[in-house]
Amino acid sequence: MYKGIGVSQGIAVNKAFVLRETQIGHYELEYAPADSVTEWRKLQQAMDESRREIKKIREQNKYLSADEMWIFDAHLTILDDPLIHNELKLLVEQQKKSALHAVREVINHFQQMFEKMEDEYMRERAQDLRDIGNRLTRNILGQKTEELPDDEPYILFASEISPSLMAQLDPQQVQAIVATHGNRTSHVSIIARALGIPYVVRVDERLEQTIRSGDVLAVDGNRGIVAHNPDDEERLQFEFLWQQFQTYKEKLSRLKNVSAETEDGYVIELLANISAIYELDVAVEQNAAGIGLYRSEYLFMERASAPDEEEQYAVYRKLLASLPGKPVTIRTIDIGGDKHAPCLPLPKEDNPFLGLRAIRFSLKHPLLLRIQLRAILRASAHGPLKLLMPMVSSLEEVIQFKRILTEVKDELRTAVVAFDEQIPLGVMVEVPAVALIMPELASEVDFFSIGTNDLAQYMLAADRMNEHVAHVYDPYHPAMIRLLAIVCKAAEEHGKPVSVCGEMASELLALPLWVALGVHELSMSASHLLQVKETVRSLRKQECRHIFEQLLACRTAEQNRNLLEEAKQIWKQRQQ
Ligand code: PEP
Ligand code: MG
Repeated sequence: MYKGIGVSQGIAVNKAFVLRETQIGHYELEYAPADSVTEWRKLQQAMDESRREIKKIREQNKYLSADEMWIFDAHLTILDDPLIHNELKLLVEQQKKSALHAVREVINHFQQMFEKMEDEYMRERAQDLRDIGNRLTRNILGQKTEELPDDEPYILFASEISPSLMAQLDPQQVQAIVATHGNRTSHVSIIARALGIPYVVRVDERLEQTIRSGDVLAVDGNRGIVAHNPDDEERLQFEFLWQQFQTYKEKLSRLKNVSAETEDGYVIELLANISAIYELDVAVEQNAAGIGLYRSEYLFMERASAPDEEEQYAVYRKLLASLPGKPVTIRTIDIGGDKHAPCLPLPKEDNPFLGLRAIRFSLKHPLLLRIQLRAILRASAHGPLKLLMPMVSSLEEVIQFKRILTEVKDELRTAVVAFDEQIPLGVMVEVPAVALIMPELASEVDFFSIGTNDLAQYMLAADRMNEHVAHVYDPYHPAMIRLLAIVCKAAEEHGKPVSVCGEMASELLALPLWVALGVHELSMSASHLLQVKETVRSLRKQECRHIFEQLLACRTAEQNRNLLEEAKQIWKQRQQ
């Protein structure tokens, strides 16, 4: 058995398909360079062929929607990048290097530059460069792409899964994925989770040396374990785990059409967080009560120009159409911080999480905000849309936002364009200052949505992405519990509903908090909906209130967790 990290849940046993990519550098010794004119021609042909291949993959794509084709657009942009083009030309024409050598040098140079960047998102772009470099190398050598099996189920094994490879996979056929590299936060992992494909990364590299296509792999994405050509006993073990997982999923699927109601009748609506359109299918399948958070900034990322009003309008309508009649909350762009968009004028900052992020950016660029508001308002004529402002820290921001919203509404009215006059407007509770100006904000807006991810980060002054301070970033800190109490009490006093849309909304341990605090909606990754529903149904509001009283008296995060763990034993027993 080989150990790795499970980044997408599920169990599978099947034949392996091993994809060995052409590695830059590997073939260099066997390659006899010609003169510089011939080498440059070869390189250009390889580029043309690579462009053709990428366009073909794009056209034949089985499940990504048009706006999720950014991976391929990013690859085409790299191929057409003038900086890369000039460097290649210089190496081949002036320094008389071979096409293969030039590709290796240029790609390595840029790749290393990206890998050294502090920002995890930028580091991941190095993978796209590697992907392009491998494709160019293969095309210079005139090798054909390894074809993925198209008629039988398989488990994909590769040293690294590139985003473009991921986008070519047919989720009906790929039973699991195993790779020797990768991490939980990459786009590939997010896609695997959204599609429910078990995925184990960073598996022991010894497996790569011995595995061949056709061998059998048994994969446990829950625990991050892989067995190569399992013996009878190991097979039985995996089959048992598979059975257990299936039974659990079946048990959960029976909850699809019941409400998330505690044993004593308190109902919480469970909605889905959506960043990319492909996540919608899971939300529909799991019968989400709506979309509690659409992270609209994802529409702006990975592209050369910002989506115009029409494109945004079409996406917002699609969200409404996917869950007919159900509420959809669109958050205006939360760009900045760890989210980059080359198409937007973001400044370079020393502390981007404390910088021009989210509503601060939108108010600084009112034209972009107006376009987004026009698209949202127009879509609101077709279903129950709500508007949410990210990272609010003052009343002035809300007033300024509302002024622009009023102007855009006036514009639409004058042009006789239909929209929902009463579209609800909400504030994200992410900056602790909000808790202390709740009465002022409550008089201006219709609802609040607690973003626990950022709230914990700003409350505890600990970067949510920084592993060095992961021990400081603890959402169960007593200050968080007390702040949550202030927010919910103030909202209740002013008759404004509160929802929660950070990761804590789907943490089973935190559920008694939300019940006790009278939260109306929880919004989360759609794959967590049923597990959360199962737990809510075994809670009792009176008990939760009692637990919360005790939590308010706790002195440390550890005491809070212990108390909630004890409570968990009780509700777990009820579930038997
Ligand atoms: C949050 O901060 O909790 C939140 C939901 O927003 P995001 O994770 O997109 O920053
Ligand atoms: Mg946030």
